Order: sequence, then structure tokens, then C-alpha cells
Amino acid sequence: MAKGKSQYATWFCGGCKRANYVTYYNKRENERIVKELKKFCPQCRSHQEHKRKDTKKGN
Ligand SMILES: [Zn+2]
Repeated sequence: MAKGKSQYATWFCGGCKRANYVTYYNKRENERIVKELKKFCPQCRSHQEHKRKDTKKGN
């Protein structure tokens, strides 16, 4: 049974540009998801703004 496509989002640190987090969500929930998140970056060893970049599964 075909389910709704899951959209993946990769979160890049605004400081070192490292991809630290990957999340996925349904397209319907897309509007609820913010463009930036403050998360901990292991590379910077501090909390940094992370910018989201959408990616599709299998691409
Ligand atoms: Zn960083």
C-alpha cells in the first residue's frame, strides 16, 4: 500500500555548515516545521542555529 511520501530534512549548522541532524516528516505537516532550529553542534561544541534543507528519500 502506497503511503504518503516522507520528506527528509537535513539540518546544517550555521557555523560550520556540518550536517548534524536528519529528520523526516509528512508533507502535510510541512507547514508546521520551522526553517531554523537551535541545536547542539558537536563540531562547534555549542548551540548553533541549524538551517534546514529538504531532501527526498532515495535521492
Ligand atoms: Zn557547527
